[in-house]
Amino acid sequence: MRAERSTGLDRLIGARSGKKFADQLGITTAGELLGHFPRRYLARGELTPIRELPFDEDVTLVAQVVSTSTRRMNQRKGSITEVLVSDRPGQTNGPSTLSLTFFNGIKASRQLTRGVVAMFSGRVGMYRGRLQLTNPIYELLDPEELDAEAAAKLAGRPIPVYPATAAVPSWTIAKAMETVLGAFDLESLPEPVPELLLRKYRFPSAAEAYRMIHVPENDAEWRLAQDRFRFEEALVLQTALARRRAQHAALPSRPSPARRGGLLDAFDRGLPFELTAGQRGVGELLAEELSLAHPMNRLLQGEVGSGKTVVALRAMLQVVDDGGQAALLAPTEVLASQHYASIRATLGPLVREGLLGGAGDDGVEVALLTGSQSAAEKKRSLLAAASGQAGIVIGTHALLSENVQFADLGLVVVDEQHRFGVEQRDALRAKSLATPHLLVMTATPIPRTVAMTVFGDLETSVLRELPAGRSPIATHTVGLVENPLWERRIWQRAREEVDSGRQVYVVCPTIGAGDRGEDDLDALDAATWGGAFAAPEPAQAVSVTEIVEQLEAEPALDGVKVGVLHGRLDTESKAAAMRAFASGETGVLVATTVVEVGVDVPNATLMVILDADRFGIAQLHQLRGRVGRGGHAGTCLLVTRLEPGHPSRERLAAVAASTDGFELAQRDLEFRREGDILGASQSGRRSTLRLLRVLRDGDVIARAREDALELVGDDPELERHPELAAAIDDYLDPEREVFLERG
Ligand code: ADP
Ligand code: MG
Repeated sequence: MRAERSTGLDRLIGARSGKKFADQLGITTAGELLGHFPRRYLARGELTPIRELPFDEDVTLVAQVVSTSTRRMNQRKGSITEVLVSDRPGQTNGPSTLSLTFFNGIKASRQLTRGVVAMFSGRVGMYRGRLQLTNPIYELLDPEELDAEAAAKLAGRPIPVYPATAAVPSWTIAKAMETVLGAFDLESLPEPVPELLLRKYRFPSAAEAYRMIHVPENDAEWRLAQDRFRFEEALVLQTALARRRAQHAALPSRPSPARRGGLLDAFDRGLPFELTAGQRGVGELLAEELSLAHPMNRLLQGEVGSGKTVVALRAMLQVVDDGGQAALLAPTEVLASQHYASIRATLGPLVREGLLGGAGDDGVEVALLTGSQSAAEKKRSLLAAASGQAGIVIGTHALLSENVQFADLGLVVVDEQHRFGVEQRDALRAKSLATPHLLVMTATPIPRTVAMTVFGDLETSVLRELPAGRSPIATHTVGLVENPLWERRIWQRAREEVDSGRQVYVVCPTIGAGDRGEDDLDALDAATWGGAFAAPEPAQAVSVTEIVEQLEAEPALDGVKVGVLHGRLDTESKAAAMRAFASGETGVLVATTVVEVGVDVPNATLMVILDADRFGIAQLHQLRGRVGRGGHAGTCLLVTRLEPGHPSRERLAAVAASTDGFELAQRDLEFRREGDILGASQSGRRSTLRLLRVLRDGDVIARAREDALELVGDDPELERHPELAAAIDDYLDPEREVFLERG
């Protein structure tokens, strides 16, 4: 029969095999099978180097049998067949040999005789100091088994090795693939890559490339096919992003041109400092974009402390001046409450108190909305938002819920973007008839190719300079293994800060003894490319509860008030802890990473990060940005119990050596593996990206982006490229939208 993409696999390879493919690999159609690409290729005739086999992993290798022996088992019924294989004909001993053990392997003992070459698959174990596979599955590769014609045809052809399972080994997949390819109506295959681009890059057609990747004649073929599919993935993704951007840009939005003599002017007049050149530049750009009839869609990146909030607040005031509303979305309740307090403080006399009834409309009402407010507080804020009374509404995810209405939402500001996805941004934007303008802010510097992929639908601006008068933060690694006395010295140092009227953060990786991590941020952090590595170190990570106890008994801190802040406290306790620390009542605040983002206590000058090796580079950089904000020099101590020379200590050294967030972001990428960038939110699903790797394939992504912009520029709805449009729909089907959601 002729097969198409949607043809059931069971109809091509039989019901029994079909069921195995479905159960084991989740593959049910011919099209899905074609999309199951080999992981790598083995050279036929060449034996796999045995000494390089990874221990305790599933491997597929080609080797030659050196000897076979079968003996009865002593204790139990049955026999054991031991087959010794080698990657070097003639070698019977040493690191180039591997032992295969078969229990009751009658058939194996008959087939695997001296000299036979076969492909074996199994998990590498160790027995009596020798690498071993137990009951491996195998496939004979002997030329003598084949007729001369077939042998000649196979000679020199690479052998594809597929992601496989014991029940569906690689060669079974390869056979099914040949059956399916043979039955396939190749003309029916869609070609998402436009003809023009195929010619531009000299790529094979889709049909040809599927053949090349599954049944390559030589190495050059599968390499070319991989290049093509990699490009195709990048193109589909970039075209999706370009189209999305174009569609958004074409929507109507509420133009809010700057108005003279309004709140913004009053605010600027009252500012206690000069804006930096960067703040002015971005400010002008935003003012311009807010005045247009199409929505702004902008990502603002800026170092911790570069003053993004003022920039956002000025944009919000421009919208309020024009009679609109602005919403500010923060990732945590702590941060939302802090924004609420600090924005009100910054606005000073420009804040209009809702309940007292205004002294006219020469001010802006600021409302706060978080999940754990009392019903009465919530109701008040909801009313203020819906009636249009509140010009600025600050909140957490609660702002996204359906019962939140705005009278006239003109601008959405998302602080610390990496914790929100596209879908959530859209949920907020859906709250108004005209599309609100969008400003996304992040302190995590994002390398270009990542930005192109993950934030490809946003325009980007960067605040590079810090406000003048900002003292640099000195960062030191404190290794307790080589400096045990420092355990003491740290708290004496904290005492000195407190005595000179300053304050100290102490950051711990976990809340309670035995915990794995900050619970409400953990999942989010995992999805953040700046998130913590849960390094599987032997010792238990230090916890907030432990350290609080320890510090309360610490002689050096006698008489110093120690505060506690972590995600498991209720909202009132969190707010109280922040208030007590902000007012200076507590000298030392022991906290989890809840202080990472945006928390602003200018009087804090020392940050002690315990078990600092448990955090990622970006996170450490964020954390230390919390000190030295008030004109007093800041110090950050990265405390570790790891041995000198431990690889995780390199990260600490990198953070101590540089205060440039962009440089650190690059270092961070070098340290971490690809999966951490895009993989975290894909758990439980097959990876959305098959061949494309965001870090490694930056140039492919950049090329595809240019091509995509050109395609969408000429043909915004892709009417002339229906197969590319269909590939995008495939890619973005609900299950896969996760890729774009990830932000
Ligand atoms: P971030 O970019 O990390 O969000 P913030 O907006 O919280 O930074 O700003 C950090 C601190 O710097 C705030 O206390 C803010 O008032 C102050 N600040 C912002 N801009 C300037 C400036 N141009 N000059 C001096 N201080 C500034
Ligand atoms: Mg901030």
